[in-house]
Amino acid sequence: MYCNYCGKVIQDDANLCAYCGKRIGSSRSRKSLIRPRVGRKVAGVCLAFAEYFDLDVTLIRVVWLIAVVLGGCGLLAYVLAWIIVPSEPEIVVNNAVGNVQVTPPPAS
Ligand SMILES: [Zn+2]
Repeated sequence: MYCNYCGKVIQDDANLCAYCGKRIGSSRSRKSLIRPRVGRKVAGVCLAFAEYFDLDVTLIRVVWLIAVVLGGCGLLAYVLAWIIVPSEPEIVVNNAVGNVQVTPPPAS
């Protein structure tokens, strides 16, 4: 398949473009605000916003942390987003090899 960003030919099952580093693939191009289970630091709120707006999660965390430290409504907003934004469904893989359940421990 082709990269949507730089147009170069990449692997069909690639999640990242090897040339420009952009995220590709259905699992990452979703446009619903959802807290991913993989890669979250606290509750995955920053990760959810980062994926939704296609921004660097570190940037989101830094900005959010500044909002918290400066006494704004950062912490309240985080807790509210934690409650409101749904968590990604647990990945349950049932195949012939054996029932493999991939269930990362909840962050809470
Ligand atoms: Zn590319």
